[in-house]
Amino acid sequence: MSELSTNTSKNPRYYLRKKISDRVISGHPWIFANELGDHDGQAEPGAIVDVHSYNGSYVGRGYINPASQIRIRLLTREKNEVINADFFKRRIQTAWDYRKQIGYTENCRLIFGEADGMPALIIDKFNDYFVIQTLSLGMEKWKDAIVKALNEIFRPKGIYERNDVPVRELEGMSQQKGYLSSPFDTNIIIQENGLQFHVDIENGQKTGYFLDQQDNRRAIKNIVKGANVLGAFTYTGTFEIHAAHYGAKSVLGLDISENAVAQANRNAELNGVADRCKFEAMNAFDVLKQWGRDGRKYDVVMLDPPAFTKSRESIQKAITGYKEINLRGMKLIKPGGFLVTSSCTNLVPPEMYLDIIGKAAKDAHRTLRQVTYQTQASDHPILWNIPTTQYLKFLIVQVL
Ligand code: SAH
Repeated sequence: MSELSTNTSKNPRYYLRKKISDRVISGHPWIFANELGDHDGQAEPGAIVDVHSYNGSYVGRGYINPASQIRIRLLTREKNEVINADFFKRRIQTAWDYRKQIGYTENCRLIFGEADGMPALIIDKFNDYFVIQTLSLGMEKWKDAIVKALNEIFRPKGIYERNDVPVRELEGMSQQKGYLSSPFDTNIIIQENGLQFHVDIENGQKTGYFLDQQDNRRAIKNIVKGANVLGAFTYTGTFEIHAAHYGAKSVLGLDISENAVAQANRNAELNGVADRCKFEAMNAFDVLKQWGRDGRKYDVVMLDPPAFTKSRESIQKAITGYKEINLRGMKLIKPGGFLVTSSCTNLVPPEMYLDIIGKAAKDAHRTLRQVTYQTQASDHPILWNIPTTQYLKFLIVQVL
């Protein structure tokens, strides 16, 4: 009861400006600096504040950071909901129940930030191990409560923080990584679609493994049978090892990172497909161009490039990159072969992405027949009033 009174009625109040878009009112949790007018009471950076509309009606409750362009992120719209350790435990439990309900038990993105009502928090569950990112100051303040909740709900074997990401600097925080539990061996093995993958929690990319493609990897099953497959941007080699497992004749995977290639080759061995699935360290842009000139042909080309841009200002860079790599990929595909292609940035929305692929096909003088068009795995939920929660585009087309 005492917590309720300290964390509700006494919170500093911030008022929205009158003439702002209805985005916040319609359910988006972010409030930008230029959308705020007056306030009553002073809030420490990262503290919980109440948000009201210009005419005083209650909107919601969240955390503030004066150093960030995204000034407030709402955590709740329930007037009587207190933001305390219990709140975070409830939200994590709810997110876990949802994952179980939709069929994810072993590995999943347990918390997908805004889509789970916990803005700027990412938690990946790799069986008994958890990897956390707290990407805003407000969320960072609750890190201990979050870790405590994970311990209580899951009794994990290990929790690790991968806060070595530049976005933290936009919030005035440093980059850091390390154990949030007793130290443990951060090289683990996870199962996915009946295959096994080494995951390097400490030094792998992002949280160590891309769970968002876990459902899409199954989608290549029929088109790779008996095929000669080329994969580019392979990281841990997941798509390529799936291809070999699903019956491809030969698979060559390329990644610019020597570490990624070493890990992918280890994964091929782990799954007993190293005889027909190999990885090499190469720059895909250069190599695909050259091999196109040389007249090399594949039955299936798979592309899963990085975001190419992190900001709206340089979006043209991403458009050019996606078009270029897909054009080069298409040129390497035999008539009637397949292109498996992805884009992982929300800065390139789905329609724009399809348009880019269409333009690449036009330049390659090829016709596309769509096999499937998917998005991220459903353990990364898409919230319809937060369009950026849909970020992954995954397309399989036959290239005629
Ligand atoms: N397909 C992977 C994820 C790929 S992430 C999976 O399912 O897990 C993107 C990868 O592209 C990274 O591993 C990065 O090292 C690699 N990369 C970036 N630029 C590259 C380039 N020019 N050529 C080849 N690989 C590149």
